[in-house]
Amino acid sequence: MNNIVLPDETQTDSSSDDETSLVVVILDSNPGQKMLRDSPHVLTHCVDSIIAFANSHLMQKAQNKLAIMACHSKTSQFIYPGQGKHTDVRQVDGQYEVFTAVEKITKKNLAKVLTADSSTVTKESLLAGAIAMALCYISRLQRTKPPGATLNCRILVVTGSSCSASQYMNYMNVFFTAQKQNVVIDVCALDQHLSLLQQGCDITNGLYLKVPQLQGLLQYLLWVFLPEPPIREKLVLPPPLKVDYRAACFCHRQLIEIGYVCSVCLSIFCRFSPICTTCHTVFKMPALPAVKPKKKKKI
Ligand SMILES: [Zn+2]
Ligand SMILES: [Zn+2]
Repeated sequence: MNNIVLPDETQTDSSSDDETSLVVVILDSNPGQKMLRDSPHVLTHCVDSIIAFANSHLMQKAQNKLAIMACHSKTSQFIYPGQGKHTDVRQVDGQYEVFTAVEKITKKNLAKVLTADSSTVTKESLLAGAIAMALCYISRLQRTKPPGATLNCRILVVTGSSCSASQYMNYMNVFFTAQKQNVVIDVCALDQHLSLLQQGCDITNGLYLKVPQLQGLLQYLLWVFLPEPPIREKLVLPPPLKVDYRAACFCHRQLIEIGYVCSVCLSIFCRFSPICTTCHTVFKMPALPAVKPKKKKKI
């Protein structure tokens, strides 16, 4: 029995204890989404699925961190952890206190957001702004983390809105900022195909999935979005779709395949204009195609 070699404790990898994963879930709670206008109870189903997903993430590792945001047509807010201290959350017998807190705080703050904005409903959600807020939050955590610790961050957007090209520039700015900060953006489309957000997933090495069946949302969240990005390479996930890389023109905010690009500031236009509206560079009018004079026939 003495011959059994015990694993050398000095060789065990202690770095994994210093690794923390943060997931920022952005839930589109805009009641103007088509699926919520058709059947408002879908939101409850989505919130329950997201809370179960969030708790599964926290369960994977004691150090894991979580934030949940609600994205609306006029504002985006953190609903978990939320502002101030939550001392009124009582423990439920048989449930881990943190899970109870996630569920109660999320539902309470989401209800506040929904009741506060009951004015004119716009269809468009401020998803780009919500991602920007999430990136600011991540950046703050990165600055205040203890020295030597690693914080792996990702953002999960869950939305049923349609993609709006009017936020094209905001989207591109947040996608490239996320890429620079090594933040992965995952998108779970509930209702419609989202070409701009799909570009964001491609830029930041995230996953894009349009849920085939809303009833099974929790299964898709747990199967596709719960594993950490390094583990995903070993899993058989839905095959990536061909990314629609169309850009929106700066003049009409419409997605175009071929257009004019300002050679100074790289602004995109669907029609030729002699002055770039972004950087005011003056261009020469394109020369008309030269018409060859017909040769006179020699008689
Ligand atoms: Zn245009
Ligand atoms: Zn320009």
